[in-house]
Amino acid sequence: MRQSKLFTKTKKEVPTDEVSKNAELLIRGGFIYKEMAGVYSYLPLGLRVIKKIENIIREEMNAIDGQEITMTALQERETWEPTNQWSDEQVDVWFKTKLKNETELGLAVTHEAPITKIMKSFIQSYRDLPKFVYQFQTKFRNEIRAKSGIMRTREFVMKDLYSFCRDEKEHNEFYEKSKIAYQNIFKRTGIGHITYLTFASGGMFSKFSHEFQTITSTGEDTIYVDGSKGIAVNKEVYNDEVIESLGLSKENLVENRAVEVGNIFTLGTRFSDALELKYQTETGEFKSVFMGSYGIGPGRLMGTVVEALADDKGIIWPLSIAPFTVHLLVLGDEDSVRIEADKVYEKLLKADVEVLFDDRKEISAGEKFADADLLGMPYRVVVSTRSIKDGGVEVKKRNEPARPHDGLGAGGEKGKVISVEELLKLLKP
Ligand code: ATP
Ligand code: MG
Repeated sequence: MRQSKLFTKTKKEVPTDEVSKNAELLIRGGFIYKEMAGVYSYLPLGLRVIKKIENIIREEMNAIDGQEITMTALQERETWEPTNQWSDEQVDVWFKTKLKNETELGLAVTHEAPITKIMKSFIQSYRDLPKFVYQFQTKFRNEIRAKSGIMRTREFVMKDLYSFCRDEKEHNEFYEKSKIAYQNIFKRTGIGHITYLTFASGGMFSKFSHEFQTITSTGEDTIYVDGSKGIAVNKEVYNDEVIESLGLSKENLVENRAVEVGNIFTLGTRFSDALELKYQTETGEFKSVFMGSYGIGPGRLMGTVVEALADDKGIIWPLSIAPFTVHLLVLGDEDSVRIEADKVYEKLLKADVEVLFDDRKEISAGEKFADADLLGMPYRVVVSTRSIKDGGVEVKKRNEPARPHDGLGAGGEKGKVISVEELLKLLKP
């Protein structure tokens, strides 16, 4: 994409009420637009990141037999009454509204009850189980605090998967598979090395639930990490008996701030009992379906990546979720240089490389470098009079440590000059 055609622009200023690093960088980069506190729109660059994150999640959910659907955001009071979750005392984040005829409706906080109702019309026999259903769908939550940018918002898309099994044993098998799928997701999105499977409070049907917590200083949670075992315990359940029962020892645990990027939860028969989702066993008895729920917020994940990986110049996107692989910069407005840069752009497109081409005129090299650092594409490729003289394009990885300044302006640490053919080999080995 040509940057001259992009309607968004980078900004030097951020809204004064914005305190989080992820919101600051994402707003300055034009990835998102703040509508109001805790409510953000995704602009072209931000949407490309979200879609890539969603696709990674989708692949991993499909790999464990998830089937994708989309449920509605408008929900009926009757759906949530059987589990006592309609009242504002029980669920304190509801946004509610009314039909013209005064019928009360809620805006989706979550979907356990609605999906249970849907599955009632399809699950009758043991032969219909197990089943796994997921969606990417907008949740509304009247959160009290909204100070963490896109990591805690009042309107956000969640990937929520729900599992339906014959019994606890069948459920546990899927639950273990989901852990691995989640670990794959966090590895593939670039935060696997700082994300820990964390024991957190359970419910009626299991002592613990499991959260996936990513270490970051701005996280709202406190966790105790055993680095050698690769697991952690949330402060909310941390005590001497818990530690011992998990086979952990207090010396080995290190306290950290972290953000919950995903969680998995054994629901048991809470919803299937209340909403009467039953199936007939091989011997003809009726049993409640055994359920679980599995959430990830793609927006929170994106914000977490920014928080955890950015440096003082801007964002550093992992290759897998970067809006573009290459940020191609043309320096100088001379025809010869621009013609050469156009050729490089066309060659990269032909090779299916995703390129953001900073073809803007009358923008200084310093500004282009600063924007490239802020926007955070994995490879910065420069075409300039000098790179042409040296026989190609100057390449620098965004996450490479800075080299001595070469006088090209802010962010202009030297890259390596290579030919376009070598560049293509580097990008498409
Ligand atoms: P938290 O404890 O952070 O409030 P939660 O336990 O209420 O989150 P769930 O309802 O289980 O979260 O939601 C599943 C996932 O959705 C979370 O792991 C997180 O990634 C994401 N999520 C939850 N609340 C928000 C929010 N307000 N804004 C953005 N993402 C969210
Ligand atoms: Mg939680």
